[in-house]
Amino acid sequence: MTESLKYDVLVAGGGSAGTSAAIAAARRGHRVLLVEEMNCLGGVSTGGGVAEWFASLEGMGNVFDETLGKMARFGARFANNRWFNPEYLKGVWQLNAEAAGVEILFHASVSRVLTTGDRVVSADITCCSQTLRVEADWFIDSSGEGDLCALAGASFEKGDAKGRVLHMSLTAWMYDTGEKQTLWLPEELTPIESEAELPGLGSGWKVSENRIYLNATKVMNRDPTDPFQLSAAEREARRQLLRIAHYVQRFEFPTYALAASGARIGIREGRRVTGDFVLTRDQVLDREGALHFDDGVAVATCQIDFHSLSKAGNSGWRQRLEPYNIPFRCLVSKDFANLMMAGKCISVDQVVHSSSRMTPTCVAMGQAVGTAAALATELRTDNIRKVPMETLRAALIADGMELDPAEHRAFAPDNSDFDEDDEAPV
Ligand SMILES: Cc1cc2nc3c(=O)[nH]c(=O)nc-3n(C[C@H](O)[C@H](O)[C@H](O)COP(=O)(O)OP(=O)(O)OC[C@H]3O[C@@H](n4cnc5c(N)ncnc54)[C@H](O)[C@@H]3O)c2cc1C
Repeated sequence: MTESLKYDVLVAGGGSAGTSAAIAAARRGHRVLLVEEMNCLGGVSTGGGVAEWFASLEGMGNVFDETLGKMARFGARFANNRWFNPEYLKGVWQLNAEAAGVEILFHASVSRVLTTGDRVVSADITCCSQTLRVEADWFIDSSGEGDLCALAGASFEKGDAKGRVLHMSLTAWMYDTGEKQTLWLPEELTPIESEAELPGLGSGWKVSENRIYLNATKVMNRDPTDPFQLSAAEREARRQLLRIAHYVQRFEFPTYALAASGARIGIREGRRVTGDFVLTRDQVLDREGALHFDDGVAVATCQIDFHSLSKAGNSGWRQRLEPYNIPFRCLVSKDFANLMMAGKCISVDQVVHSSSRMTPTCVAMGQAVGTAAALATELRTDNIRKVPMETLRAALIADGMELDPAEHRAFAPDNSDFDEDDEAPV
């Protein structure tokens, strides 16, 4: 142990949710440490190379609005404005976090959490072969996989009844070189002969005139929270990617070359930390009109986007959903007074997760918990549940969040894709 530090808020994970949370808390004048394993902010949507916002973009709060605006000024949004260049998004998130006064620690991993009773007291952060012990009043787990909560001993769920989570994908980009590329596939890899043989999502590659996006690897039945399974997933995805790039050059874009792949494999689903409330499929499915909660602090608009857990290719369950509130109770670990979650790891069942996990929704949730932590500090309370919901909701509305789900439009571009043969998870 080399150093001991104290902050008002510690945010574990600088993805879409965590960066938003840190900005929301810091710009209200609070001391915020944002701990991130990679060398950039944005998580899956930057380092992971996933460059599409797949949910409604309006009314998600001014943290997201400012990000969208700067991306447009860089000319880094294209196609239908939902696609973007992730390299610029890295810069935008960083500049916005710096402007808000967030202390950013890159190459840093939360590796141990100390608790007393129902309070998280401190987290150990491993960085540059050192361990920093960081105390904070409020802890936000936006690590995607719920690492901080798991280390604290909080309750969580993972996957379906058999523990299966949505597949992982290593994404990649190919650019037009203007010259026919040399085709080569290492002998140990089998060529892909048709689109039907693609491991994951295929076709629709082209994002702009000279670049294509590959979200076509599919690694199933691996646990992203298990060290050896995660590495096995990375290796399997890398082999798939070489085969896919070879297929694309051979059959569709002979002048394109691989330009970049995600710095790490994209994890769609890890732990779902159990909160004071679990939002379930029964509540969001088969209803007419928007779903409102009195403690709604964000709105999810995306369709169910449940990729098949057992079949390769594009199969899955896609179904339009009317917009619904994310209740604040889904963002508070049921086991602790000062521990919140935002992003992929919140308290929803696996079906709701397939919709709530989309990037714009994660950013909105982040703003909600960051604002809650700030208000809790300002109110000098010792339990996040004591922040009055009307105060939190009013602050979010003032900061550009449309919290009435009836004012949002359902986002369901693939609504007709449901394959009756796919398993519908229970
Ligand atoms: C392949 C793929 C395609 C997708 N396609 C789309 C799409 O088209 N549109 C869309 O809107 N959404 C899409 N999604 C979903 C969406 O991108 C993610 O759910 C969302 O970005 C998650 O944001 P997050 O902040 O919760 O988590 P993440 O983006 O995963 O961020 C978590 C961050 O925490 C860091 N971290 C992890 N553990 C620790 C630790 N112990 N200590 C410190 N830091 C840690 C990670 O490095 C990461 O930066 C896709 C997801 C995947 C995987």
